[in-house]
Amino acid sequence: MDIERVKELKNNISYLDENRNQIITHWTTVEDVRTILTKHDVDIEVFQNVYAHPVLSYFIDVVKGIQEIGNCPVIAKLIDYLQEKHITSSELFMICINFRKAIIKKIFAKKIMSESLYESIAYIFDTNFKGVLEAFNETLAKAKEETNKLYELSIRDYLTNIYNRKMFDEILDLEIKAAIRNKTYFSIIILDIDDFKRINDSYGHEAGDKILISLTHLVQKILRNSDIFARWGGEEFVILMPKTSKNNAYNKTQEIRKIIETHNFETPKKLTCSFGVAQYEEIDTQSSLFIRADEALYMSKSQGKNTVTVF
Ligand code: GH3
Ligand code: MG
Ligand code: MG
Repeated sequence: MDIERVKELKNNISYLDENRNQIITHWTTVEDVRTILTKHDVDIEVFQNVYAHPVLSYFIDVVKGIQEIGNCPVIAKLIDYLQEKHITSSELFMICINFRKAIIKKIFAKKIMSESLYESIAYIFDTNFKGVLEAFNETLAKAKEETNKLYELSIRDYLTNIYNRKMFDEILDLEIKAAIRNKTYFSIIILDIDDFKRINDSYGHEAGDKILISLTHLVQKILRNSDIFARWGGEEFVILMPKTSKNNAYNKTQEIRKIIETHNFETPKKLTCSFGVAQYEEIDTQSSLFIRADEALYMSKSQGKNTVTVF
């Protein structure tokens, strides 16, 4: 699933999750709302026409979002209940109003009802609704867990389980914004395995895959928690070191280079990598920063590999 869609689902679900107690305690039946509105001379027709569309589409989006995650019988049950048990579409709308009202209580209180009208709504529970809502609550917890898993899958590389390129891009974007705002700096490092094609050719693709995994474990151990490590693609990796000057990044990268050079990878025993280091400058964009790091990497390769170059 697309990362943006997963994020949207995650947001919808946390929104509901954070507000579920409110949804349940503030739930009133259709009749309650109708009675109260009538009692206070609120024209139900006007009320419906003005607010029906956005509220309904919000509700439907949320339900669709949760359904998309998997088979959620409870949601289907909720919809059945709303649609089939003598609840007409205009009543469904009222339920949606109530649903939304609970979530954005303050906005509703100000725009649609006065505070006193809102406060005067009796919190009477319809027992069936309460049952459905409790089940909904459980489904929500399950949906939350599933979207978290989906989210993890969408941001990680399937082979090495470190961040993928897409996630790195997002973090880099945030880091650039933070650097501009706070006048801080950071460095990025591109790591490319030397002669990896030859390793694949001599020992097979599976051995190559194992090397990629061992290499990520090895590098991850040396990095700090705040460093961001991602697979850029193929046998190329990228590291972001926050609040790190290019000199410090150079020293740290030399340390990484030496540890890789002396590590026993078993099949084959020896492996080296080349590195390109660049520090973010005020005028940089993502792409200009990468071009510099890439040029530095190219220099490391042309100078005989197993080398660190800073630009
Ligand atoms: P250089 O030192 O110049 O970087 O040479 P190289 O052989 O490392 O670079 P080249 O770009 O020619 O080859 C990269 C190889 O990486 C080719 C490709 O088969 C291999 N590769 C890319 N992704 C994977 C993967 O997921 N698993 C395995 N086993 N190999 C991969
Ligand atoms: Mg390469
Ligand atoms: Mg290579």
